[in-house]
Amino acid sequence: MEKLSYDAIVIGGGLAGLMAAHEIAVSGYKVAVISKVFPTRSHSSSAEGGIAAYIEGNSDPNDNPDYMTYDTIKGGDFLVDPDAAELLSQKSGEIVRIMESWGTLFNRQPDGRVAVRYFGGQTYPRTRFVGDKLEMALLHTLFQRVSGLDIDFYNEWFALDLIRDDKRVVGVVAMEMKSMTPVFFKARAIVMATGGMGMLYAHSTNAYINTGDGYAMALRAGAALKDPEFVQFHPTALYPSDILISEAARGEGAILINNKGERFMARYAPRKLDLAPRDITSRAIITEIREGRGFPGGYVGLDLRHLGEDYIKERLALAYEAAKNFAGVDATQEPIPVRPAQHYYMGGIDVDITGQNPDLVGLFAAGEAACVSVHGANRLGSNSLLETLVFGRETGRAVAKFLSEHKEEDSNSLDKEAEKVVDDAYKFVKSESGVHFGEILNKLRNVMWEKVGIFRDEDGIKDALSQIIELRKMTSSMYVLDKSTTYNTEFFNALELRNMLDLAIVIARTALERKESRGAHYRTDYPERDDTNWLKHTIAYLKGETVEITYKPVRITRWKPEPRVY
Ligand SMILES: Cc1cc2nc3c(=O)[nH]c(=O)nc-3n(C[C@H](O)[C@H](O)[C@H](O)COP(=O)(O)OP(=O)(O)OC[C@H]3O[C@@H](n4cnc5c(N)ncnc54)[C@H](O)[C@@H]3O)c2cc1C
Repeated sequence: MEKLSYDAIVIGGGLAGLMAAHEIAVSGYKVAVISKVFPTRSHSSSAEGGIAAYIEGNSDPNDNPDYMTYDTIKGGDFLVDPDAAELLSQKSGEIVRIMESWGTLFNRQPDGRVAVRYFGGQTYPRTRFVGDKLEMALLHTLFQRVSGLDIDFYNEWFALDLIRDDKRVVGVVAMEMKSMTPVFFKARAIVMATGGMGMLYAHSTNAYINTGDGYAMALRAGAALKDPEFVQFHPTALYPSDILISEAARGEGAILINNKGERFMARYAPRKLDLAPRDITSRAIITEIREGRGFPGGYVGLDLRHLGEDYIKERLALAYEAAKNFAGVDATQEPIPVRPAQHYYMGGIDVDITGQNPDLVGLFAAGEAACVSVHGANRLGSNSLLETLVFGRETGRAVAKFLSEHKEEDSNSLDKEAEKVVDDAYKFVKSESGVHFGEILNKLRNVMWEKVGIFRDEDGIKDALSQIIELRKMTSSMYVLDKSTTYNTEFFNALELRNMLDLAIVIARTALERKESRGAHYRTDYPERDDTNWLKHTIAYLKGETVEITYKPVRITRWKPEPRVY
């Protein structure tokens, strides 16, 4: 197998990966970015609503970074590590200013200050935007910026598995998707910036490429995931296609209504109403539907009409177009049909505030692939883009420091391991008949949605676990129809399914273990938050079919847990 050598490899070309690569490259190290899609097609390009930032002189006069930290911690139902949230808030203004100076044209107020809108759970409005197409703007700006640096890009290359030597990562095996040629990329540091995992759920706002590859690669290499039971469901996905209708709509004043025309959020969040955090709003919508106050088919209405046609078309163009093209609804005339769908993963590869994983020397993670943890049990809208940039940068800097302190060690004895990774991949899809991989995938997505979704209980999760284990067994006689050796996307889809199955078992096991309700993890059999027993991070390792679970304390500093009411 061909071998290539770098100081650092970044897996993922979204905002987190590009920001980390930027920092490594400007520090003078040889870095490559591997991405299974062209970088600007990463899921980072589809975010709509905005990036949260406290900007001195551009924020509400009563606001300050401490309020932002507090909102983030409360939004995360107190499972957030306050030092991480403080860093996020304190660097938010600076990072927006940097993106602006690199070329992102943010919406402005008439007096020239950066415009701002409310997002759920914010005491003061902090979300900065470019209409409702912010992330296209951010990702293209950053890609243009890093294109001018000495970084090698391996676009449409699929990372299969990490290679480790005892407790040290020494590289990754990746395959060029066009020619299916594997290469052993050697490096002293690896940054996992592989994004989320929405495809695990039957209903998700995520791109098809979000299959949780990075979480699974880290697990197989022996690294832990932190808080894997916490999955976010966004309240307003378009019915029936699940395309996201951004929280920006409610931020601009849209309201949720049931089939009686009631503004039902008054029952669930009397003060914040439609701008309650996502976990609360998603549960409210499902409750309305279950109690017969939804519309036939299972959705509620998102009413924008009072905002006026001009305003809707200017500020919420994407929402307007999506409703028109994918639901046949003119949002200026009638409410948009919406229901919750999986949206974001709070869990992730366990890392500290500098992006370093404690299990494997040289392993780093940033963005949605990582759990720092700034989002705790529930992420606030527009905090994720901010996290990708702030912690992408912190991680890149930490990698540069790590490289200056760690010399290259001989890893030639590991060539066989690299060969084995490729053999295992082919073995996984070797069957000629049996079950088509798509059948297993559909079953997995349905069981996760139904049993490990918005509402959970012991019987349901146990049932899900036994089904997931069964599905893992079924892969021994799994086939793909496409046998070609050029751009065999079906082969890669099957490998993505392997990753999803590895992750699913960890999510279900840890969800079963956490016997309380906190943020997005809602157990109908344990409906209360239990700080006495559960104010702690879950740390989970995958050993074959067994999930080993330990716990880590939340680093409580200034903000003590209190009842979470909105
Ligand atoms: C529809 C939508 C709207 C959103 N809106 C907002 C918003 O308004 N504000 C906000 O803060 N957040 C928003 N989010 C969340 C936010 O967009 C994401 O959390 C964030 O963009 C993740 O960035 P990332 O860099 O971590 O990963 P991504 O941008 O997802 O990039 C992952 C990268 O990893 C690569 N990759 C993955 N697996 C492999 C593999 N096996 N081999 C090689 N490469 C691989 C991919 O090619 C890709 O380049 C939204 C999310 C969605 C889905």
